[in-house]
Amino acid sequence: MSDKIYLTGDRPTGRLHIGHYVGSLKRRVEIQESEDYKKLFIFIADAQALTDNIDNPEKVRQNVIEVALDYLSVGLNPEKSTLFIQSQIPELTELSFYFMDLVTVSRLQRNPTVKTEIHMRGFDASIPVGFFTYPISQAADITAFKATHVPVGEDQKPMLEQTVEIVRRFNYIYGNTLVEPKIVLPQNNACLRLPGTDGKAKMSKSLGNCIYLSEEPKELKQKVMSMYTDPLHIHVEDPGHLEGNSVFTYLDAFCRPEHFAEFWPDYASLDEVKEHYQKGGLGDMKVKKFLNNILQAELEPIRNRRAAFEKDIPAVYEMLRKGTEEARNVAAQTLSEVKRAMKINYFDDAELIAEQSKRFQNP
Ligand code: ATP
Ligand code: MG
Repeated sequence: MSDKIYLTGDRPTGRLHIGHYVGSLKRRVEIQESEDYKKLFIFIADAQALTDNIDNPEKVRQNVIEVALDYLSVGLNPEKSTLFIQSQIPELTELSFYFMDLVTVSRLQRNPTVKTEIHMRGFDASIPVGFFTYPISQAADITAFKATHVPVGEDQKPMLEQTVEIVRRFNYIYGNTLVEPKIVLPQNNACLRLPGTDGKAKMSKSLGNCIYLSEEPKELKQKVMSMYTDPLHIHVEDPGHLEGNSVFTYLDAFCRPEHFAEFWPDYASLDEVKEHYQKGGLGDMKVKKFLNNILQAELEPIRNRRAAFEKDIPAVYEMLRKGTEEARNVAAQTLSEVKRAMKINYFDDAELIAEQSKRFQNP
């Protein structure tokens, strides 16, 4: 049996989008179906979402169920994966507190993802401490479950590096206790960091440039048709550019050879389409239509599955409650090992009590 333990999470700051799908969700389902794993933990990072939404708890609360429905709709199966809610596991907060002593402020300030996100959210001088330290809390999430593999998008690379540093420092000081995780990035380059429909570097719930997994066909089409392409490609006959052209990046992420026979028999491959576009003479509208057909076909079964799960919301909460209970047991076990290693286990250590009695009885 495989000894791989997988863990990943998503912030409940909105419904999940196609960037999450290609960047992480699809891989999770593949892992789940491969059965080459010991455990697959998937969690809704509500505590982390609050770090930059502290004045909007209702947003986080509403999106917990949305994300859970998205998980089920892409095929994550609670019989095979453990789905849980972060805030309901206080052991994670406790672990973060101890990890904070292993990281310097300047190390956190150097984290490129945190830097970009601070700027994106307009925090500048008013960064909440909790947001600033979220890489530490992520290290707690990963290590609490002794995760060996973490399938995420490229933006999470600095978090994994930070986690590995914490694990090494902890094990060096307190003895071998924690497990070093490995990042698992998407194999396809276009999926590492899917851009927004507006051409911005990253599709992100917080930027409002998303195509959601649960998008209705009409909205999906509208979003695709108004996508950012190449500002220099004004007339059909102008040569087009692929660099920074979101429509082509999405095609790189979603297009498969069989799509041509089905939706665009004029071309045999994506390379042919690209060549024609670059030469000039191929209009954006035609390419967008093709992309729309592909996305409609990909998202339809997801939307239908979601509709079925939406019919029984209490069952979804019950599934999360069970998953959370199971996950909490695992985290509690790790925390007790951590506390023993850190010498802060006073009441379950008979040896300690005997030693201290001896010390005071025979000074
Ligand atoms: P927020 O704007 O609230 O941070 P987000 O859209 O960045 O939301 P997260 O919940 O932070 O989503 O990320 C969940 C997972 O999805 C992470 O593994 C992240 O790397 C991956 N991911 C997020 N956006 C993209 C994207 N555009 N392309 C590829 N992977 C992505
Ligand atoms: Mg994010």
